[in-house]
Amino acid sequence: MQKLTLDDIDVRGKRVLIRVDFNVPLDTSDDGSPCVGDDTRIRAALPTIRHVLDNGGRAILISHLGRPGGQPDPDLSLACVADHLGSLIEERVRFSSNTVGETVEEVINGMSDGSIILLENTRFDAGEKSNDEDFAKALADLADVYVNDAFGAAHRAHASTAGVAEFVDTAALGRLMEKEIAALTRVRDDPEHPMVAILGGSKVSDKLGTIRALSKTADRLLIGGAMSYTFLQVLGHEVGESRIEADRLETAESLYEAASDTLLLPSDHVVADAPAADAEASVVEGDIPEDQMGLDIGPATIDTYRTAILDAATVVWNGPMGVFELDQFAEGTMAIANAVADATDADAFSVVGGGDSVSALGKSGCTGRISHVSTGGGALLTFLEGAALPGIDALTDA
Ligand code: ADP
Ligand code: MG
Repeated sequence: MQKLTLDDIDVRGKRVLIRVDFNVPLDTSDDGSPCVGDDTRIRAALPTIRHVLDNGGRAILISHLGRPGGQPDPDLSLACVADHLGSLIEERVRFSSNTVGETVEEVINGMSDGSIILLENTRFDAGEKSNDEDFAKALADLADVYVNDAFGAAHRAHASTAGVAEFVDTAALGRLMEKEIAALTRVRDDPEHPMVAILGGSKVSDKLGTIRALSKTADRLLIGGAMSYTFLQVLGHEVGESRIEADRLETAESLYEAASDTLLLPSDHVVADAPAADAEASVVEGDIPEDQMGLDIGPATIDTYRTAILDAATVVWNGPMGVFELDQFAEGTMAIANAVADATDADAFSVVGGGDSVSALGKSGCTGRISHVSTGGGALLTFLEGAALPGIDALTDA
């Protein structure tokens, strides 16, 4: 279903309520005040913000940040994000410590065209996550037009991502949304073959639907990270102390049976007695000793996976191959990042997504060599699985 985009609407003189994904990691600045730790998501929203400002709209930005549990939490205020955004776009960005209500409406009514304001964390209101109608209406009261550009939150049916769209006349996709949808539709619905999907990370349970969907389209599905041990256990291997999900063994088994001709599992592992910085790592082939846990893929697996990736015309990667946060378990993930970048240099179309995967990609220095780095984690998995995203579905049909 095609949705309205910024190209279909005239924003001049309008109050444009833009749902962005400013759920960024926070840090502490030298003077002890909170500041933005990583501004990738803020930068990703700039094309939409610029479009609205340059075309004479009033940009009213809303986002969630963290998990304040439906009540105000000063540690999760978006105030410092407004300052950061202001320095990025070289404009004065106002901040409102209220998210909805009369005071906000008055401030917005007093704004001039082409100016911008960021409202406080939507999750300070319990109505956000419950998709409460009154809260959604209160958000809609601030807007002539609603634009959703928060791909990272599009899998949530919350008031600011979905509910609000019902109460405005026009609800359109932002530029980041358009870009994400185009890249992800290409790999999901019309991939050039051979297609290689790489899935790793901590929990197989988060990603079962995505594994199932990708195993149907991909020619090779490379499994790494903690999720490999649940599969290896099913196949009768000793996995020692590795993290497995005992309640997912049956699902993993049926998945493996359905996909055994495309699914590859690690043949060797970097193991240690704990995922600790001072742990002594060694490489084992096949079974993992009783008192050890698998914390990265081993060199033979790296070779096999790299060869498969370099052969691909399409590559999708989500989930680190090991505990990449610790140097002695980072090699597998770094090797995969480099292989995906090398394949892209050789003309493959590549997509990498997931919070930890994107941070691992950054650590490898390969970010700029990937065709599309997604801002989504859960939203990316949901999209690739072929399931509905409420934040997209709620928008106005073109
Ligand atoms: P993403 O955020 O990219 O979707 P996940 O959140 O699913 O990725 O998984 C990332 C986490 O998985 C990392 O913190 C990493 O340390 C952890 N992880 C990867 N491999 C293992 C392993 N073998 N054992 C324990 N944790 C692992
Ligand atoms: Mg993660």
